Order: sequence, then structure tokens, then C-alpha cells
Amino acid sequence: MERTPCIVLFRQDLRTTDNPALYHAAKSQRPVLPLYIYDEVTAGPWAMGGASKVWLHYSLKQLQERLAALNLPLHIVKGPTRETLDRLIQKTGCKDLYLNQCYEPFWQNEELKLKQDLTKSGVSLHSYNGSLLFEPDALKPKTAPFYKVFTPFYNSCIKILEKRPLFKEPASAISYALSPSLKVEELALLPRHPDWSSGIVAAWRQGQQEAHALLRHFLDRSLLNYSHGRDYPGESAPSKLSPYLHFGEISPMEILNALDERMQKVTTEEKLSIGKQADHFLREICWREFSYHILHHFPDLPEQPYVKKFDKMPWSQNSEHLKAWQRGVTGFPIVDAGMRELWHTGYMHNRVRMIVGSFLIKDLLIDWREGEKWFWDTLVDADLASNAFNWQWVAGCGFDAAPYFRIFNPTTQGEKFDAEGTYVRQWVPEIANLPNQWIHKPQEAPERVLREAGIILGKTYPYPLVDHAAARVKALSLLKTISE
Ligand SMILES: Cc1cc2nc3c(=O)[nH]c(=O)nc-3n(C[C@H](O)[C@H](O)[C@H](O)COP(=O)(O)OP(=O)(O)OC[C@H]3O[C@@H](n4cnc5c(N)ncnc54)[C@H](O)[C@@H]3O)c2cc1C
Repeated sequence: MERTPCIVLFRQDLRTTDNPALYHAAKSQRPVLPLYIYDEVTAGPWAMGGASKVWLHYSLKQLQERLAALNLPLHIVKGPTRETLDRLIQKTGCKDLYLNQCYEPFWQNEELKLKQDLTKSGVSLHSYNGSLLFEPDALKPKTAPFYKVFTPFYNSCIKILEKRPLFKEPASAISYALSPSLKVEELALLPRHPDWSSGIVAAWRQGQQEAHALLRHFLDRSLLNYSHGRDYPGESAPSKLSPYLHFGEISPMEILNALDERMQKVTTEEKLSIGKQADHFLREICWREFSYHILHHFPDLPEQPYVKKFDKMPWSQNSEHLKAWQRGVTGFPIVDAGMRELWHTGYMHNRVRMIVGSFLIKDLLIDWREGEKWFWDTLVDADLASNAFNWQWVAGCGFDAAPYFRIFNPTTQGEKFDAEGTYVRQWVPEIANLPNQWIHKPQEAPERVLREAGIILGKTYPYPLVDHAAARVKALSLLKTISE
């Protein structure tokens, strides 16, 4: 029997089902060495943020457990990916490396170099797409090198989108144990002094099993109200699958197949209404695909505005304003609720992400890259493509972006999308006793109402950091200046 192992490198594909690299390695009849390398070097400035590390800790534990049940012990090491792989390949005599591609520019560069190294040393690289419905360069318009607008991209996606059979979890792989492996704890991914992770730990359970449970719950309970509900942060309409998708605990193809199965079960009367909701959900999944398409063709996306005139924007350097935004003490309840939800759970509702983003960029006039960095550190779904794409979208300097002159009014956004104040009351408890009429504008509430609600403005809850109307005028005038 063949004794040299093949290595399966896990990165953003922390699952055993529909995992093409694992599936093909197991089929090769060689002993399989599942490997996770904790690499703080290759990503440079985009090394994993704090909340992602917390997620990774628990996710690796789940993967380890799942692989152990398949008699495939996960080997964990720490170090730069290429050097570490080189060392392990030499140590084990491995001749085949299996991996699912990562599409971040730094991983793409790394994979190119890896391929060259492996060819020189006679090792075959087997690489697959395990995280997207389409490779980022698979779809091309007829008259341009790539799609810059979402709708034609989406139309071309759905024209050729087909479900495919999922890659089965290997039932009978031959294991290869290499000792010593690091324990997950030895990666020191959890914060210690202070430990701020309790909110994240309470809000989520990581792993592929949980991802599938969440998906089933979403399809059975929330899909019917998805289109409407996804705009209202007080309702639990969205799937919350984003961190599982980012870490690859579920694949988009698994989601597509489950959605299709759900559609098979609907009655004729339900078909039309639920069909529309399913289309909308699929459209959102395709926004994720579009972000990767854009990142592939414009790798500077995380650092450089696509619309060049934004280079000239005289961004504010007010660090007190930035701090107030990060801590959720701006005096605008919907903004503060969002920023506190983010800090506490590592997640923020999409509508609120747009509101807090617009507030940072257009009310505080702070560079979108500051927001992008903060989200990178605090989101459990922090994803280079989706985060950069959406920050540029909100700022108005990206692809198919919201125009810069469309400036959200945080008060009316709150009144429209959180009319009962459910969301604000949950995250900004110090103003919870205000009647609905004033919950999004405590600064306008009569003295008596504030007193009865136990609020002293400037003491128990801040006055608004800026005057929105004046900030709007200033933002528009700056836009005019950079456009001249
Ligand atoms: C400023 C800003 C920053 C963002 N940063 C991230 C990020 O780092 N990581 C991330 O995954 N999403 C990001 N998003 C997109 C979106 O907010 C989240 O994907 C969504 O809120 C995740 O919740 P959900 O899984 O419940 O979404 P659902 O509504 O259930 O959508 C299903 C899936 O579709 C995808 N999706 C939905 N909306 C978008 C979108 N606008 N762009 C790309 N993919 C989308 C996600 O993978 C999501 O899990 C950002 C949005 C904004 C405005």
C-alpha cells in the first residue's frame, strides 16, 4: 500500500461536505493528511482581525471533531504558508497537494509561487473552486474585459447557473497522522486581557453542522418574508450565513441545492410568492460573487478608490469622531445601535451597515478605509472582497456604487426601518424608555419626556456629534470641489 500521504490544505473551506479538495484527495487512495496552517504573514495588512480569530478558534475545533469522526486527524501548524508546506512536504515525502482556491490577491500570488515551487520539486498541485458558484473570471461580457455593473453580471449568472451534485464527505479515507500537531488553544486566537469575546461566543455556534441548521431554519421560517424583512433590523429575516460562507463552513453550492429542494416542496399557491423571495436571496448570494469578480479584476479594491477623483477628497482626521463612531456614542441612535451590535456580536444587519457607513463617510467625512479597517477587525464575516466592495459602494467611489450625493439621513432611516425602535432599544438601552416618537431623535424630545425616560442628554446619552443638515451641505460641496 502507498505510504506517502497527500496533503489537503484547509483555509477558507473549513468543512468536510462539498469540499472538492478533500473529496479528490480521499479518492486518490493515498493516506490523507488534513492540514491547517495558521499564517499571520501572507495576508500582510489583511491578516485576520480580532473577531475573525475568535470565530476561527471555534471553527477549527468543529472541523477537528468532524475530521476525527472520519478518522482523519487535523494537523495544525503555525507559520508562513509556503515555507511551512515546503517543510512538511519534505518531511512526509508528499507528492500531491490538494487545496481549494482562495481568491484574495495575496493568496492568488502565493498560489502562483507555490505552483512554481511544487513543479520544481515534483509535487502535483490539485486546486479546485470550493467557495464560489463561478470562478471570479468565468463570466465575461461581450464588449468589455469584465462586468462593472451588477445587473448584467447577475443576468449572466442566472443564465448559466446550475446546481451540480455535491461532493460527498469521504467515508473511507486512509488516515496519516503526523505528530506533533499544535492544539487549537496554542494558536492563541482568543483575546485574553481583556477578554471581549463573550458576546460573540453567546451569539454564534460555529461549524458546518450549525451552518446547515441555520440554513434549514432560514428556508423553513424566514425565506417567505425575506425581501421585505431583510431591510428591518428588528426582524430576523436575513440568513446570517455570511460568516459560515466566509470560513467555508458551508458552500454556496450547498445553499443553492437546499434552496432548490425547498422550492420542490412548495405548494402551487405558494410557488409565486416564495419563488420571488428565493430569487431575491439568490440575488444576494450573487452580490457576493460580484464582489469576487470585481476584486479579481481590480485587486487594489481594498486600498484604492475605483473612481479616481476620490483620491482628492480632503478626509477629516478627527480621531475623536472616529472613536465615537467605533464605540457607538454618536448621539444618532440607529448608528449607535449598529456599532454596538457589531462590537458585541461581530455582526451587523446589512441595512444598518449601509447607514453607519454613510454616516462615517458623509456626515463625519472620514475616509471609507477607516470604516473598512474597523469592520475588518470587528466583523466575524470580515471578507476582503465583500467588505472592500461594499465600503466603496457606500462611499460612492466603487463599482455600480450608490452615488456620493445620496446621503442617508440617520434619523429618518431609523424612523423608516426601525419604526417601533425595537432594534435601538435592544442595543442602546439607556434610551429604551423613550416613546417611539422620540426614540430616533432624543435631542428633539421635550424636557419632560427626557426626564420621564431617565435621560440627561450629554450625560446619560450624547448629543448628536454633528448637525446632519450642515454635514450634508458640506459633503456635497466637497464632492463638487473634487469633481471640478
Ligand atoms: C459597509 C459594508 C460592509 C460589508 N462587509 C461585509 C463583509 O466583510 N463580509 C460579508 O460577507 N458581507 C459584507 N457586507 C455585505 C452584507 O452586509 C452582508 O453580507 C450581510 O449583512 C450578511 O448577512 P446575512 O448572511 O444574514 O445576509 P443575507 O441577506 O441572508 O444574504 C445571504 C448572503 O448573501 C451575501 N450577501 C448579501 N448581501 C451582500 C452584499 N451587499 N455584498 C456581498 N455579499 C452579500 C452574503 O454572503 C450573505 O451571507 C457588507 C456590507 C456593507 C454595507
